[in-house]
Amino acid sequence: AGIAPDIAALVERRKKSFGAGSVLFYDEPLKIVRAEGAHIHASDGRAYLDFYNNVPTVGHCHPKVVEAVRKQMGEFNIHSRYLFDVAHDYAEKLLATYPASLSNLVLTCTGSESNDLALRLAKKASGGEGFVVTKTAYHGNTSAVTEVSPSSYKQGGPPRHVRMVPPPDPALFGNDVAQGFADAVAAAIAGMEADGIRFAGLLVDSIFSSDGVYADPPGFLKAAVEVARKAGGLFIADEVQPGFGRTGEGMWGFSRHGVEPDIVTMGKPMGNGYPIAGVVTRPEILADFCADFGYFNTFAGSPVATAAALAVLEAIEEDDLIANAAHVGRHLAARLKRLAARAPITAVRGAGLYIGVEFGTEEGPAPEIAKGLINGLRRHGILIGAAGGYGNVLKIRPPLCVTTDHVDQLVDAMEELLG
Ligand code: PMP
Repeated sequence: AGIAPDIAALVERRKKSFGAGSVLFYDEPLKIVRAEGAHIHASDGRAYLDFYNNVPTVGHCHPKVVEAVRKQMGEFNIHSRYLFDVAHDYAEKLLATYPASLSNLVLTCTGSESNDLALRLAKKASGGEGFVVTKTAYHGNTSAVTEVSPSSYKQGGPPRHVRMVPPPDPALFGNDVAQGFADAVAAAIAGMEADGIRFAGLLVDSIFSSDGVYADPPGFLKAAVEVARKAGGLFIADEVQPGFGRTGEGMWGFSRHGVEPDIVTMGKPMGNGYPIAGVVTRPEILADFCADFGYFNTFAGSPVATAAALAVLEAIEEDDLIANAAHVGRHLAARLKRLAARAPITAVRGAGLYIGVEFGTEEGPAPEIAKGLINGLRRHGILIGAAGGYGNVLKIRPPLCVTTDHVDQLVDAMEELLG
């Protein structure tokens, strides 16, 4: 049928204004007109079930968040060098979800800014400069953070101070993922130190999203964290993706592993779409850094941003979303595992409402199947994406308010498409 004329015209305008920086999903991109809960309504008159977007984590246009932002915006909004209650109500409620040692919060506007600050904190605290990250990691877009985001390298490898380890994949490390991954981290540290680079820290997304979603067995990260600390480095947990209840087992991905990070970074779901992100660390790490540099971020921690984020924390509690992530996630994983017995699926991995479905055949990874499904599911009115080093892992990451009925719609459609 070809692309609808109004969509084609918008794509042209977009190319003209945004040039090579413009990235769009789908050959015929969706034009959004409104969204609610787990659904996005498009200009084609259809309501799409959203299994892609983790930013609107408590549901698209959650009335509580909308009202909190509207109200605060109408009262006052200003930078954080004045006193106002909502920032403190938020900080205290958020920090109460953390281990007692992690008692200071720095607010930023994006996950990238959070990771950028985390790198600086770790360098100051360790006296080192080298970082270990996973091979297909993404941690953000500043110049320093791009260097520790191998998935962003379009050509060439990492700079000398960045060393990569494989993802914690049982297919690589066998039954002892913990030991295998820890050994890989130890070898990476030894390699950088042999090159005269002092180790500063291990930075990982605690559910390894862009590597292809690796969650199990819980606890496997512990050995690698011990290796990093023994070598004088810090452990930075990037919770931008797993954080705020997505794994269905408490608020943070790192807690599934029984580890206490030195630095935690957050973003994406924190304001349900209003830009707010942050770093949590121990007071001495922050004080030591601030003695040298200080930190100010104009828009960060504003009254409106913290009002949005406070409403998100309240909605997670009131709507019982962590329990929902666990319950609906179990149903999703169980159905996908049944499907895997009859389809070219080589693994179903993840926790709660973050599931990766890896496609492969005898010839190896099968990104074309994942790609076919992404387009096929769109025709079925379902939005979804892919991850992993080969792009062969369907990444299932819906708002946490999805139901078992929504999951059935997804898996029924996958069954039909794969059949
Ligand atoms: N860390 C992880 C794990 C991410 O997935 C992302 C964003 N995709 C970021 C950091 C960067 O966040 P932002 O886009 O808000 O800068």
